[in-house]
Amino acid sequence: MEFCPECGAMMLPNKGVLKCNSCGYSEKSDTDEEYKVSSMREAKETVTNLGDDVEVGPTTNETCPECGNDKATYKLLQTRSADEAPTRIFTCTKCKHTWRAYD
Ligand SMILES: [Zn+2]
Ligand SMILES: [Zn+2]
Repeated sequence: MEFCPECGAMMLPNKGVLKCNSCGYSEKSDTDEEYKVSSMREAKETVTNLGDDVEVGPTTNETCPECGNDKATYKLLQTRSADEAPTRIFTCTKCKHTWRAYD
């Protein structure tokens, strides 16, 4: 809540500007700007967290042999020979069990 420095009345935000309805004083509101900065910061943290966990990949409907959970993330492990299909490493989203699948 902002108050007018001129007359002390409540100021209302209007299109990025804080305007006093009593005396007409107005000043630029930085509320929108702050919001953008904080949401950008949150998005950045999410990306960083994903990067830290090497097991996180796309989610697929694979049933975990350990707990029966039907959601797992997977990543592809390219074998040395180009003739072979890449090995998929699944990680259960629930119990973090990992297993391989061969096509
Ligand atoms: Zn005022
Ligand atoms: Zn599991």
